[in-house]
Amino acid sequence: MNRAEAQQKIEALKKELEQYGYEYYTLDAPSVSDYEYDKKLRELIDLEEEFPDLQTPDSPSQRVGGKPLDAFEKVEHDIPMLSLGNAFDDQELRDFDRRVRNGTDEEVSYVCELKIDGLAVSLRYEDGVFVRGATRGDGTVGEDITKNLRTIRNIPLRLKKPETIEVRGEAYMPKPSFIKLNEAREAKEEEPFANPRNAAAGSLRQLDPKIAASRNLDIFTYGVGLWEDDPAESHSEHLETLKELGLKTNPEWKRCKDIEEVIEYVHSWVERRPDLDYEIDGIVIKVDRLDQQRTLGFTAKSPRWATAYKFPAEEAVTQLRDIELSV
Ligand code: NAD
Repeated sequence: MNRAEAQQKIEALKKELEQYGYEYYTLDAPSVSDYEYDKKLRELIDLEEEFPDLQTPDSPSQRVGGKPLDAFEKVEHDIPMLSLGNAFDDQELRDFDRRVRNGTDEEVSYVCELKIDGLAVSLRYEDGVFVRGATRGDGTVGEDITKNLRTIRNIPLRLKKPETIEVRGEAYMPKPSFIKLNEAREAKEEEPFANPRNAAAGSLRQLDPKIAASRNLDIFTYGVGLWEDDPAESHSEHLETLKELGLKTNPEWKRCKDIEEVIEYVHSWVERRPDLDYEIDGIVIKVDRLDQQRTLGFTAKSPRWATAYKFPAEEAVTQLRDIELSV
């Protein structure tokens, strides 16, 4: 492809992805599958890498999430809430591992976690009391959804210790609640939600907290944003701390000694994924040691010390299984 063709293709992809992003992040009503979106985004990133002078700061490849809704108070995040880089196969996981090991000069171990398909939220506790909850928004500024988050039973209003800490997690709608909600909506001739992620996001971005309260939402916390005098040396210690503080964490995480163990874990979840009663869209892989995370740092959009292995869309997995069964 020559430069002029690339420019034309980049402009078309940017426009298309911008529209999909608006439908997904602002309207909570996507018109294409995540898999399709991710593939197009990857096409754009590849072209921008080939023609770096055609990359602009407003490109969907450079931005996190969407614009926060005006209906909510804005919350500026003390530490940006970023996106994650993606890996779509084993080779891309090994490439990630190589980049990580090139950026640090010691042994690296990883923590693997399920990538919960919901809405990223930040929870601020002051002296152990829940004072504010926000969406990720565009990564820098999110929406204040404290009242809605207070309706989630698994978000403690008081921690077990009087810590001042900002915690991050994924609010989600369990599959059974999603099915019930859509049945009720269809009975009332209302538009059903496209998937549990959009149902969770749509429920938490309502002005009336009674709506969120009626939707059986849940949460898994997976990280620490800001914590003064943080004594932890690793991400796995953070996960233990969250649990000790009384926050809900996902029990399936695993510390892996190298990328081959990570790949084994990832493969095991491709099979087990349908058995969960909540949706996951991949596996998040994070460098465990916090000093190594600090050395690796961030790009404009995502940490260099983490990546998300993205599963193929469930329909694609089902088709693969059907093919295997019929041969
Ligand atoms: P992302 O969802 O790929 O990854 C970052 C997010 O992962 C974090 O913000 C966090 O919320 C979440 N997460 C879940 N479990 C986690 C864990 N254990 N540890 C850390 N983070 C965890 O980020 P993104 O940049 O918002 O990616 C966009 C996603 O939205 C993609 O899946 C994309 O397909 C989808 N999308 C779809 C459309 C569409 O039209 N279908 C449009 C835009 C975006």
